[in-house]
Amino acid sequence: MNLEILENLDVVIQYNVPLAEFTTFHLGGPCKGLIQCQTPLQLETVVTYFINNNFPFLLIGGGSNLVISDQGVNCYVIRYLSNTPIIKRDGNDLIVSGSTILDDLAQYAIECGLEGLTYTSGIPGTVGGAVVGNAGAFGKQVGDVTKSVTLLTKEGIKKHVGPEELNFQYRDSDLKKTGDILLSVCFGLTPGDKIQMQNERHELLRIRHEKHPNLKTHPCAGSFFRNIEPTSKAGKRQAAGWFLEQAGGSKLKYGGAVIFEKHANIIVKSDGCCAQDVYELSKEMMQIVKDQFNLDLVREVRFVGSFKGIPTQIKDIVW
Ligand SMILES: Cc1cc2nc3c(=O)[nH]c(=O)nc-3n(C[C@H](O)[C@H](O)[C@H](O)COP(=O)(O)OP(=O)(O)OC[C@H]3O[C@@H](n4cnc5c(N)ncnc54)[C@H](O)[C@@H]3O)c2cc1C
Repeated sequence: MNLEILENLDVVIQYNVPLAEFTTFHLGGPCKGLIQCQTPLQLETVVTYFINNNFPFLLIGGGSNLVISDQGVNCYVIRYLSNTPIIKRDGNDLIVSGSTILDDLAQYAIECGLEGLTYTSGIPGTVGGAVVGNAGAFGKQVGDVTKSVTLLTKEGIKKHVGPEELNFQYRDSDLKKTGDILLSVCFGLTPGDKIQMQNERHELLRIRHEKHPNLKTHPCAGSFFRNIEPTSKAGKRQAAGWFLEQAGGSKLKYGGAVIFEKHANIIVKSDGCCAQDVYELSKEMMQIVKDQFNLDLVREVRFVGSFKGIPTQIKDIVW
């Protein structure tokens, strides 16, 4: 495959790259090549080129919700992440590139005195990844403030759609099913008290620092399983971590994959850990909750590529 044609786009192209360095879990084997795009125009041009030439590819953002196979992937990977935020303000709306780092956006919105994204402070990854997975915290999620998105479909068609077409659910959107690529998004925010939001942000970052793994010392992909859906309309979602803890999950380990000491729903990488270890440990976690509570945990983290023992019906590269 000749990628020289893309070089004048100012995108970074590397060959036979280990994907581990592009995920927060620091796991994952090589890909054929990695193309790093920062702007919507770069991404659109690169993806259109791949589609027109029938070259399969995988799109990633910050790699903070992924476990990539030890064998890597037999295709090119396009990484959409910008070092500096790409944001345009229009009144109370912010039009943001999907490559912008989510926490940069949270900070920008607060600086503008705009309320609606403060709770995303400290969530790793990009805005694109956040919209696809409807990321959130403390009962709020990015889908709540999404006014419209600009997508590139699998066929290479660019379209603008409203949130009603994305079917946002808890940690989910239809973008996971369609595979459409999010180039940019418009968030509709409301004026707020800047000082109050800054204080809220500091407190959120303090709590994250205290309760969440430090990615430098404890690589991971955040909460592994979704919280459990309420059994009645009045009920609240119940923490998957609670069920795991009650079932004795805190002590589980498999090879180098261990449970984070402060949170039974987080798998962290310790010495010698490979992606297969994470897969095996996640199966054990599901099993103990099934045995004790007859509940089926649903994964929040997505596996990429091939793992030993995966169900035969799985055909997609991201699953
Ligand atoms: C320490 C830690 C704490 C976390 N805390 C939270 C939390 O509080 N709340 C929460 O919701 N999540 C949390 N997460 C999970 C993760 O940060 C989010 O899911 C994040 O939004 C993923 O974004 P990403 O750019 O890293 O996506 P990636 O992991 O790179 O990709 C995830 C999926 O999105 C797709 N994708 C990425 N970008 C695009 C795009 N532009 N267009 C189309 N598809 C795309 C990929 O193909 C992939 O299928 C945490 C993770 C860690 C490591």
